[in-house]
Amino acid sequence: MDKSFKTFLKHTAKDFHNQSVNPPVVRASTIIFKSIQDIRKTQNKYKKDPTGGHFDYGRQGTSTTHVLEKILNKLEESYHVFLTPTGFGSVFLAIFSVTRPGDEILVSDPVYKPTRLLTEDYLKEYNIKTVFYNPHDINSLKKNITKNTKLIFVENPGSNTFEFQDLSKIISIARKRKIFTAIDNTWATPYFFKPVKLGFDMSIVSATKYYSGHSDVMGGSLAVNKKIFKHVEKAHKITGLRLGPDDAYLITRGLRTLDVRLDRHQENARKVASFLSKNKKVKLLYPYKKDSFNFRMWKKYYKGASGLMGLKIKSKNKQSVIKFVNSLKLFGYGYSWGGFESLALHQDIREQGNRKFLKLEKNEHLVRLHIGLEDPKDLIEDLKRSLKFIR
Ligand SMILES: *Cc1c(COP(=O)(O)O)cnc(C)c1O
Repeated sequence: MDKSFKTFLKHTAKDFHNQSVNPPVVRASTIIFKSIQDIRKTQNKYKKDPTGGHFDYGRQGTSTTHVLEKILNKLEESYHVFLTPTGFGSVFLAIFSVTRPGDEILVSDPVYKPTRLLTEDYLKEYNIKTVFYNPHDINSLKKNITKNTKLIFVENPGSNTFEFQDLSKIISIARKRKIFTAIDNTWATPYFFKPVKLGFDMSIVSATKYYSGHSDVMGGSLAVNKKIFKHVEKAHKITGLRLGPDDAYLITRGLRTLDVRLDRHQENARKVASFLSKNKKVKLLYPYKKDSFNFRMWKKYYKGASGLMGLKIKSKNKQSVIKFVNSLKLFGYGYSWGGFESLALHQDIREQGNRKFLKLEKNEHLVRLHIGLEDPKDLIEDLKRSLKFIR
């Protein structure tokens, strides 16, 4: 019987050996063997089957991390999933695996800020050049490809401004020119969209967000296809980026309810979006209204939308926008998202000042909301009361 993925998530990782519905947390640096021949045997097994969970030292992981790799690999429909201690570790690993001095990378302009700092500033010192392209202009991608372009790095939707791109066009351009592709898929997770299946070589998810779902652990995953596996495997070993077994356990626990939570995040976010779409001061940055390019691109590739949305607010009075955010009682103010709870942030990306293609007027302000699992009626009441402060 081919079980549906929802059923798989509930029944996977049972430990019949210990008669436990959950996998044990195996903590290990040293792994011991019955004999020296036994060590060689395991090492040979690893050489033949490097994704099969044959470990000779704790840096490669333990059965606890292997369980998580297998679940995520099934979710991603990829060749293998590498785990890292944070989501940003996976961003680093993806780029480090394939770029060398003299190479160039193309990065979508509204990328996660630390990714921007890594590519634009840090890699420059290693003679790796970054060019940012306009997410809504495929020509700005095409015309910046040179013989040195090694990687196209996409984040979809864009950080804070939520642009959706025409992803299969990017993949086909990259394939023609033999350029590797990576995407940061943290917003949707492979529950709503499977990038490796579409044709990306690498797909990043911050497990800190929806995988864990409870704002109490950090981790990252990098799903890869067979073509790029060897490159990433080598880099993963060299960098020593290892996810600890306790963190892996918490992420595995979170995954059991990934589908239930994401379905509800989506339902709640739609209700909040419906309320906000009636407010004249607010332009929703969320795939809700059917008339936009962003909506069409979301619809083309995604099975659903998560709980993170942007609001572009028109006001001549910035302080009144900040007052709106500060007045929210049910939304916490803080970074990260993807947990059970609602969050709000006022994002001054104009002050951060390094976007190349951002069109934001002086009287336009960005607020980011994460719609949690509270009763959406309460969230809407909270927003209704606080929106009145915007002048
Ligand atoms: C949070 C986030 C990351 C980084 O993940 P951490 O687990 O915080 O290191 C990367 N990309 C996106 C889109 C994120 O939201």
